Amino acid sequence: MIDFHCHLDLYKDPLSILPEVERYCEFVLAVTTSPKAWAKTSKKFEHISVVKTAIGLHPEILLNRIDEQKSLLKGVKLNRFIGEVGIDGSRNYSGSVDLQQKAFREVLLESEQCGGRLLSIHSRNASKEVLDIIERCCNKSTPILHWFSGSLDELERAKTLGVWFSINPMMTFSTKGNALISKMPLSKVLPESDGPFTQNKGIPYMPWDTSIVINHLAKTFGKTAQFINGVMKNNLKYLLDTHN
Ligand code: MN
Repeated sequence: MIDFHCHLDLYKDPLSILPEVERYCEFVLAVTTSPKAWAKTSKKFEHISVVKTAIGLHPEILLNRIDEQKSLLKGVKLNRFIGEVGIDGSRNYSGSVDLQQKAFREVLLESEQCGGRLLSIHSRNASKEVLDIIERCCNKSTPILHWFSGSLDELERAKTLGVWFSINPMMTFSTKGNALISKMPLSKVLPESDGPFTQNKGIPYMPWDTSIVINHLAKTFGKTAQFINGVMKNNLKYLLDTHN
């Protein structure tokens, strides 16, 4: 299984699930919410070859962690995986939207300076703002919108911009999520768990639960799960080869 957006460091006991991660997963992108968390997490998982740790600064905590933005930009130089970054326009965070936009733009510009990066991007209630910045500041990098929940028109715009998407189990259970997924290009899609924040009756989804996404894609696009797995492997390989 592939999990392209997982908060592996935020499970109750991350080390205890590593054996299963190694058994069931061929690739897990462990995103982090701050450069300080990244420093700890990347050390914790460095001996697990299927886990890659991304350096990020989550838009929901940006306001209180703005002093870490500098470390993030330094980290962009040294890492090919960036995330979780982006913009959250929900009411609770709308006060910091200007700051979030500025910070997100800086990350994209630094990524370009470094020849392009893979970015796992948060865009809740801010699809337009995120796409505006991607349109202006992203050329060599590959933006991957995680848990995209914009409108169908915004999805079309994202596709025109060449943006990628990572899809989690919760999206497959909602009508809106289904409508969006059915219009996403299979060649620019990867599965994610977004665990432990995604849950089923209080139990977090695990990185290998992306099989739910695979089965959903198979049903939606009239293919076998085996075929979809092959496509996902190719997509991953393409991204890793593009940003090696
Ligand atoms: Mn997340």
